[in-house]
Amino acid sequence: MKLCERCSRPLKSQKSMENGMGPVCKKKHEKELADAEFERNQMNLDEVIEEATA
Ligand SMILES: [Zn+2]
Repeated sequence: MKLCERCSRPLKSQKSMENGMGPVCKKKHEKELADAEFERNQMNLDEVIEEATA
């Protein structure tokens, strides 16, 4: 049986097994990815501002 990559609980559905994590963990995972992407964009923006004002 396949286990969730995040919480190590057994995955029940075929879709969860394809994702490697359960639906709740997948939502969290996607939010983390979105947050990381946002952080990266923020950092890039700060760099641009710094270069513009330097
Ligand atoms: Zn999980």
